Amino acid sequence: MSIAPISSVFSNISSPLKKISSANDKQNEELIHSAEFLKLMPWLNDKSIEKALLELEDLEFAPEDIKYLKNMGINVPYKSGAEAVKFIEKQNIRIMFDKTTEPGIHAQYDFWKNIITINDRYRGTTDFSVILAIGEAILHEAGHAKDQDGDSSVQEELDFLGMNAIAHRAFLRKYGEVFSDSQEPIIKDGVSVYAKLFFEADPEKKNLIRRIKDKYGDLPAGDRMHPPGAIARTVKRNNPRL
Ligand SMILES: [Zn+2]
Repeated sequence: MSIAPISSVFSNISSPLKKISSANDKQNEELIHSAEFLKLMPWLNDKSIEKALLELEDLEFAPEDIKYLKNMGINVPYKSGAEAVKFIEKQNIRIMFDKTTEPGIHAQYDFWKNIITINDRYRGTTDFSVILAIGEAILHEAGHAKDQDGDSSVQEELDFLGMNAIAHRAFLRKYGEVFSDSQEPIIKDGVSVYAKLFFEADPEKKNLIRRIKDKYGDLPAGDRMHPPGAIARTVKRNNPRL
């Protein structure tokens, strides 16, 4: 049969052409975005943070992932990455690399200064997986910023870490296994962990509860904006099995 070789020749010719044009499209898109960001966020002069915001703005959560969280008693503050970026822009929240209060903290939001700080160790990064992780960290901190109360609770962290989990799954769907070889703490001990723990098959989510207890166990179970659900209450309960 002569059909097969002809079609394979065609596909050989057409695929590199396609690649070139889509790379150009992507570059043009980024230039347009860059100009838009600069208009909306004139303070933004860091390329890594700009790229992280751009990736975040394009991020769509899967509706079934949002529903899965809801069934666990987890409510996400933003329904998409774009919603979070819009909030950051509207509230004039600054984002910068700086020292965090403890070196092990990946990112934090200062309510009084209205600043999201990303751990200084990632300043100037061009590592794509780290840039995506920074996007996820910005998303989480934008959740804290939305409350406008400067404090947190176990349920509040669950709501935002759950949002991180579905954001991470969305990046995995979009870009494949970009995070798997990374040794960076923001990935290995951050965003990758929660995507796994929230979506573990165990209906009791024991590993998630253990981790939250370890990291956030001193916080109150819930607060005005985040009334505690079953998982948050279990985290606060003295349970010898955990
Ligand atoms: Zn938090």
